[in-house]
Amino acid sequence: MKNIKHLFFDLDHTLWDFDKNSAETLAFLFDKYRFNQLHQMDMELFIAQFHQVNRALWELFNHNKINKHQLRELRIQQTFTNIGVEIQHIPATFNEEYITICPQKGNLFPHTIEILAYFSESHQLHILSNGFADIQAIKVASSGIAPYFKTIFTADTIGAKKPTRKFYNHVLHHLKTIPPHCLMVGDTLDADVIGAMNAGIKAVYFNPNQTTHDAKVDFEIQSLLALKDIFR
Ligand SMILES: [Mg+2]
Repeated sequence: MKNIKHLFFDLDHTLWDFDKNSAETLAFLFDKYRFNQLHQMDMELFIAQFHQVNRALWELFNHNKINKHQLRELRIQQTFTNIGVEIQHIPATFNEEYITICPQKGNLFPHTIEILAYFSESHQLHILSNGFADIQAIKVASSGIAPYFKTIFTADTIGAKKPTRKFYNHVLHHLKTIPPHCLMVGDTLDADVIGAMNAGIKAVYFNPNQTTHDAKVDFEIQSLLALKDIFR
C-alpha cells in the first residue's frame, strides 16, 4: 500500500450517514404534515419504507434505468403506495422540502473525521459520488469534511456514473494518476467496489451492516477505523 497516493471515498452511506440524516428529515416532515393524524401512518414504517424504496431506485439510477427527476418523484410515490396511502395525499412541497433540508444535516459515520484527518496528512483525498453536484457540495460543507478533500467528482459533472470505466477513467485522467496509486472506499458493492476493480483500482468494501455477499473484494471493513489496518 506504499504506492497509494490518492484515496477515493464514496459519500452517501460511506462517510455521510444518509439513513440517519434522511430519517431526521423525514421525521420532521412527518410531524409537520401530521401524517400520523391524517393517514394513521406509523413513522418508523414510513421512514423504513422510504429508505428501502430509495435504495432500490438508486440502483436503477446508477444503471441509467431512471433519471434524477424520476428518482425523486418515485421514491415518495412508491413509499406512499407501499404503506397503503394514495399518492394524492402527498403534500405538493414534500419533495422540495426533503431535498432542501436533508443535505443540510451533518451526521457522519463513526470515526469519519478521525480517518480523514489521519489520511489527509499523507494522501490526497477525493470524493467520488453518483449524487448531484449541488447537493453533495452542501452535504460536504454542512458535515464539516470539506477541508479534507482536494476534489469532489460527481456523476452529473463527469457525464458518466460509477461503476462505468468511463467514470473511473475520467477521475484518473483528471488527477494525472494511474490505478496502482489509488484506493477506492465505498458501501455499494457494484458501483464502488466492482466498478473500481474493473478499472484496475484496488477497492475497500465498507460494509458496516455486514451484508452477506459472494463477491471477491480486495478489502472489506465494518468500521472506517479499520482503514488504518489496511495500511499497516
Ligand atoms: Mg454510497
